[in-house]
Amino acid sequence: MKTKKDYIKRLSKMKRNVYFDGQLIDRTDELHMDCIDTIGTTYDEAEKPENQELMTAISHLTGERINRFNHIHQNTTDLHNKQDMTRMLCQKVGGCIQRCMGIDGTNSVYNVSYEADKSNKGATQYHENFKKWLTRFQKEDLVGCCAQTDVKGDRMLRPADQPNPGAYVRIKERLKDGIVVEGCKVHISEASVADEVLVIPTRALREKDKDYAVAFAVPGDWDGMKQVVTIHNLRPREIYKRGFMPGATDSYVIFDNCFVPWERVFLAGEHQHGGVLALLFALFHRHSYSGCKPAIGDILLGSAALAAEVNNIHKESHVREKLAEIIMTTELGYAAGYTASDLGKPEVYIPGVGFVPYGPGSYIPNSIYCNVGRCLTGEAVYREQEILCDISGGVTATFPHEKDFANKDVGDLLFKYTKRNPNMPAEDQAQFWRFLGDTLCSSTGGLMNVANYHGGGSPIMEQIAITTQYDIESRKKLVKYIAGMSGGDREALAPKAAKQKTK
Ligand SMILES: Cc1cc2nc3c(=O)[nH]c(=O)nc-3n(C[C@H](O)[C@H](O)[C@H](O)COP(=O)(O)OP(=O)(O)OC[C@H]3O[C@@H](n4cnc5c(N)ncnc54)[C@H](O)[C@@H]3O)c2cc1C
Repeated sequence: MKTKKDYIKRLSKMKRNVYFDGQLIDRTDELHMDCIDTIGTTYDEAEKPENQELMTAISHLTGERINRFNHIHQNTTDLHNKQDMTRMLCQKVGGCIQRCMGIDGTNSVYNVSYEADKSNKGATQYHENFKKWLTRFQKEDLVGCCAQTDVKGDRMLRPADQPNPGAYVRIKERLKDGIVVEGCKVHISEASVADEVLVIPTRALREKDKDYAVAFAVPGDWDGMKQVVTIHNLRPREIYKRGFMPGATDSYVIFDNCFVPWERVFLAGEHQHGGVLALLFALFHRHSYSGCKPAIGDILLGSAALAAEVNNIHKESHVREKLAEIIMTTELGYAAGYTASDLGKPEVYIPGVGFVPYGPGSYIPNSIYCNVGRCLTGEAVYREQEILCDISGGVTATFPHEKDFANKDVGDLLFKYTKRNPNMPAEDQAQFWRFLGDTLCSSTGGLMNVANYHGGGSPIMEQIAITTQYDIESRKKLVKYIAGMSGGDREALAPKAAKQKTK
């Protein structure tokens, strides 16, 4: 296993292809360092003996110990550990840990490449290609990102019907030794500091969309690929430093007639498998969300409770109600993810067919519970901010800058007039409002709300998944029976529930 130092060394050797604010920048540019420190936490914590079970696993490919972020889930314990590892790390950095896209991308491609080869009856070697790529990925302890979201052009048109054929990443040319791709993936988290960019389709595809059914992986500085990055750093602190300074980046990843050799291609034209890959990645990612969003809930709850304490209103009943609301959302999201892990199987849900065995035996979390948890907690994002805003009052919006507190003319006056709770040092109260201002009033705080709302798929996407996969018809039959209508069935659900339990 590698270290944070090894990771930074690799980044320092990569070619420049990342544009920021009109300039080409290095991976190790100072602007990237907060994000690198955030991802670096996944290396530092994996080294600690007490985290071995949670943060490492034995590779089913090599038998070697690897970082869990590069592991393929072999059983339900792996799914539980992934959820708990994500919550633990997100607590430590106070937000997104930035490495889950890799584990979710690799787990989805691992399964789909296997099924695509099976359908092609040996005519393709996608799965073998992927296993070779994955073996190196695991051995070198690389950081992967997953580029799924396309620019999508006109939302009402499907890929092959778009006026711009590159509105979804597509295969432009097939050559003897590889493919040429064009298009642009957007909002790709941590692509600017990832070793490898894993590319997969965004949506269900038709036969005529087959050129859009493409999956591959390239190094982050690959020829023919350019990145335009937005970097989300908090306002730097010089005097009153935070305990941890998190950072994040998101890239537009542009493929400009980019050549990808066959050994790095994991799907090329199988439109049905392309659609399953899009759904499966979303599913694994929504499962990750059941670890990260509860951690964000932990931070929000601590923040709301401290805001109440600084204001000395913590014993008021309206505060209790609001704290309970955050706890309920947080733990319901966690419970949904826990159940999704517990019911995990090497199976996927096919609309109209039900759950069917899928892939070479690795574990996939239960779809209903992943989607229910992500949707519930994703929709709560702005309500949680409202609670924080309500309890804290207007202070975070206009809190003076740190150097004013260090200024000899106004510093003491500021501490005197910002002190609220007589039982807490004024310095701690000021430090808390600076922190909460980062959450409620900074551009990064705003970005995080959008990420927490849409990341893993907008709520409507989960609602579509839930309603197409849930057995609503049986519930209708049950109610028809109870209501005394025709077509009712008292046993519509009972035998299925019993069968599911014994599986
Ligand atoms: C900070 C951040 C980080 C992210 N990181 C990643 C990442 O690492 N990798 C990645 O692949 N993606 C990433 N995403 C993308 C995320 O998954 C998408 O934002 C999300 O899926 C929504 O897609 P969109 O932004 O294109 O919104 P849109 O799809 O444009 O949605 C806008 C609205 O239009 C509606 N709409 C869209 N299409 C239709 C239609 N056909 N019919 C009816 N209504 C429609 C939607 O329901 C929504 O209400 C990230 C997003 C953010 C904000």
